[in-house]
Amino acid sequence: MTTAYQQEVVQLLKQVIEPTLNNDIVSLGMVRNLRIVDDYIYLRLYIGSHQHQLQPEIQSKLSFLSWCKKTYIQICTIPGVKTTLGISSGKGGVGKSTTAVNIAAALKLQGAKVGLLDADVYGPNIPQMLGLGKADIQVINTPTGDKFLPLEVQGIKVMSVGLLAEANRPLAWRGPVLHKIITQFLQDVEWGELDYLLIDLPPGTGDAQITIIQESPICGVILVTTPQQVAVADVRRNIYMFRQVGVPVLGIIENMSYLICGDCGSRTPIFGSGGGEQLAAELQAPLLGQIPIDPRICSGSDTGNPIAMSEYASPAREVFTQIAISLNSTFMLHDESTQLD
Ligand code: ADP
Repeated sequence: MTTAYQQEVVQLLKQVIEPTLNNDIVSLGMVRNLRIVDDYIYLRLYIGSHQHQLQPEIQSKLSFLSWCKKTYIQICTIPGVKTTLGISSGKGGVGKSTTAVNIAAALKLQGAKVGLLDADVYGPNIPQMLGLGKADIQVINTPTGDKFLPLEVQGIKVMSVGLLAEANRPLAWRGPVLHKIITQFLQDVEWGELDYLLIDLPPGTGDAQITIIQESPICGVILVTTPQQVAVADVRRNIYMFRQVGVPVLGIIENMSYLICGDCGSRTPIFGSGGGEQLAAELQAPLLGQIPIDPRICSGSDTGNPIAMSEYASPAREVFTQIAISLNSTFMLHDESTQLD
């Protein structure tokens, strides 16, 4: 009986459409942890700060169910944050953090208010990539308790587990401690008003990554891979995991796709070619862009100058700009109160 009820509930929830994304809340991964116990419905609704109107709509849809005594909706949101996106990779070293920083930078240049949460507990290096040295994180007192204040660099708000840990010491958090730190980290940062919060996820499909996905209102992930078969296989596993927990995969970015010859401009695919395209076709997730190997990406990361903010045109800067434009056309609301400055 519960399964039949469950299906009935899902069918009704699929009739609730998120107007900007023009899709139903189930397909968008906004409804999770749906349970029916003794004819009571419990669900978690993962939304942005501008989507609270979905709650009464759900209540009204589910009120048609004659057997349902009451619906309890737990809202999961990050105060002030409209759109939370995850940047993920199957394995380390493929350029995930570089991509997260550059997408944040490109969105900022498009006029969005952007925050970057470095949740890569195994290698938090976002602060360095934006030129932040060791800084003291301030804690402020708010009506909802003590909160960490993010740092601001190049117009981007930044918070990193690396800023909380001691420098040069590997983070060896495990199990419940890891879980507690991550959830505190997701809930206790005072971001202010943000159009986008990008979360740099730890690589792979381990505990830390699953905790972050389950505890935050991520409404889509971007996956970063290199063209090699082994990296592609890792990303494939990753995509299956996201689909299992109901988080939409927005697309794939292939990094280190080719090397441009400084003399003749020819492109050499030194890590093989076609991996990203093959994966995108197989898993029906768009290929958002192909980024070449470019020493300026590496030096920009080392000196805190993301290539997406460089004044010089480059194929990499172009890819990040295009991704930012396409994210804006997907996620930005078009009424006055939410327009970009
Ligand atoms: P991950 O977050 O996946 O572990 P990083 O973003 O830290 O990977 O990148 C690993 C290293 O590779 C960094 O030194 C970075 O500057 C460099 N890198 C990443 N992408 C490129 C690229 N397209 N061209 C040149 N260097 C790159």
